[in-house]
Amino acid sequence: MNIEDCLADFQIPQYLHYLDSAATSLIPEPVIVSMNEYERQYRANVGRGMHRLTRVATQRYQDAHDRVSGFIEGQEGTTVFTRNTTEAINMVAAGLEWEPGDRIVTTVMEHHSNLLPWLRLRQKGVEVITIRPDSEGTFDTGSFDEAITADTKLVAISHVSNALGTVQPVREIASLCKEYGSYFLIDGAQSVPHFPVNVQNIGCDFMCFSGHKMLGPTGTGILWMKEEILSPFMVGGGTVDDVDIEGGTAEGYVLTEGYRRYEAGTPHISGAIGLSQAVKYLENLGMDDIFRHEQKLTERLLAGLAGIDKVNVYGPQDIKNRIGVVSFTIDRIHPHEVAYLLDERASILVRSGDHCCIPLMRYLGLENGTVRASLYLYNTLEEVDLLIQTVEEIARMV
Ligand code: PMP
Repeated sequence: MNIEDCLADFQIPQYLHYLDSAATSLIPEPVIVSMNEYERQYRANVGRGMHRLTRVATQRYQDAHDRVSGFIEGQEGTTVFTRNTTEAINMVAAGLEWEPGDRIVTTVMEHHSNLLPWLRLRQKGVEVITIRPDSEGTFDTGSFDEAITADTKLVAISHVSNALGTVQPVREIASLCKEYGSYFLIDGAQSVPHFPVNVQNIGCDFMCFSGHKMLGPTGTGILWMKEEILSPFMVGGGTVDDVDIEGGTAEGYVLTEGYRRYEAGTPHISGAIGLSQAVKYLENLGMDDIFRHEQKLTERLLAGLAGIDKVNVYGPQDIKNRIGVVSFTIDRIHPHEVAYLLDERASILVRSGDHCCIPLMRYLGLENGTVRASLYLYNTLEEVDLLIQTVEEIARMV
């Protein structure tokens, strides 16, 4: 299958131009079919019981974990299904042991989901250092070198900024973490859907991402961890090998190993099956081809917006350091107004506002936020041209 041929799999009205995939992506037909198949043909709980339906469902649920871990080359670690990236990150914050004086190094660019869980740990005496980028949203690794010390328990950064599209130098940061003995968490919500990500090559300890941003159903996310060092923040059905209330262990139960220890209760089974199908779909298209396609569109969009009077584009100008998440403003028009007009005039759907990055917006002096067009594999050059042309018309109105 090639990228041009896949458009028919995404069934939204043809006149809509969906440029909001950084928030959540569209979902292709085979993913919906796989979820319906589960609900209609083999709906049963997983990991419990011996009857034929539960055996099929359990196998597919296990296969889904294997496929997702293979997608990021994470077979050596543990792949836990969560509701979303936010839950995955919170599981790390809740699952590590924190002591007063521990440091966390993060950045001012983070999505609130990769910032608030760390800021909350200040209540436990943990110090949170937030590194600042340059005006394009890039960091030089020297600033990480300065910030990471022997007391740094964790470094937590996003692989790609959801507000500016910047790709961060995660491999370099991973080697600094190794040097100082810090854990390294990557928020991969905007990277894993768009280009090949290999957790072994990067050398991180945790990779968190969302299924719903990579053609999968909502309510699906992933926490990959290199080693099972977290204590699970929920326990209950499915997480134990034995429960002996008066037995030898302090808690009276023995947790099982692998992802089950972190997935208490009945999971989102159809979601896992749909996510697995989404990964298969991405693999069939090829992540390199998807990335190339998006880069082609991004180049065109950046060049087009750069030529329009009164339009300001944020994030790196160099295509090598970014993906197709393009933030811009038009002088004297509120970003919400621009987003509304893009929809009204041309059925172009974009996001506007602070993109859950209030500290970054404040740092950049963008109190109303930006307009954000975010591209994915199903977008076309024609849609990019339409966006450029409509932005130009709106800019001429003021
Ligand atoms: N981190 C980044 C970089 C994101 O783009 C997002 C989603 N906008 C999140 C975290 C949170 O993802 P979710 O809503 O799926 O938890």
